[in-house]
Amino acid sequence: MPYQYDISPTQKIYLDNLGDNTLITLASGGPGQQQQSGTQVATGPWTELPQVVRVGSGVLVRCTTGQRTFIWQVQGGQIGAADATAWPADQAEPMQVTASSAPVMQPMAPMQPMQMGDMQMSASPMTMRMGNMTLGKSHGNSSGAADGNASGTASGPQKFCTQCGAAVSTGDRFCGSCGHQLQ
Ligand SMILES: [Zn+2]
Repeated sequence: MPYQYDISPTQKIYLDNLGDNTLITLASGGPGQQQQSGTQVATGPWTELPQVVRVGSGVLVRCTTGQRTFIWQVQGGQIGAADATAWPADQAEPMQVTASSAPVMQPMAPMQPMQMGDMQMSASPMTMRMGNMTLGKSHGNSSGAADGNASGTASGPQKFCTQCGAAVSTGDRFCGSCGHQLQ
């Protein structure tokens, strides 16, 4: 079960006891650009819960095993062993159990914005293509309507023989097909 302590809003320290080893992980940075460094120390299994003390801009973390007490100083992104005599026991507080272990998926964080960028970039030409398709359709519709209008206006002056229905010219006085007298 890993233990977590927030050194600052952008820096967290994780402590986990894995078998005979203590895994110390320092995660810093904001979401999407986290950096992580860690060290593993053969401490043996803990006999006490890990504790933490704020020291200046960093912290001291402590875990106690059957053999001895281990203290590390975490400051400025560095993890180093510290002298046990430097431990201010009266200021110590227990580290908090965290459900999730140290974040190890950082490589995926920068990929997600890139994938979203590709999607956005690919979506833009799709929209533009759709725009072109819409324009092409409207062109076809307008030209078709124009054709209908043209044929309609053409059929306006176009006359037909009232007798046989044959098409006759406007100026014709007689039907060329049946000889019916036109107006
Ligand atoms: Zn006729």
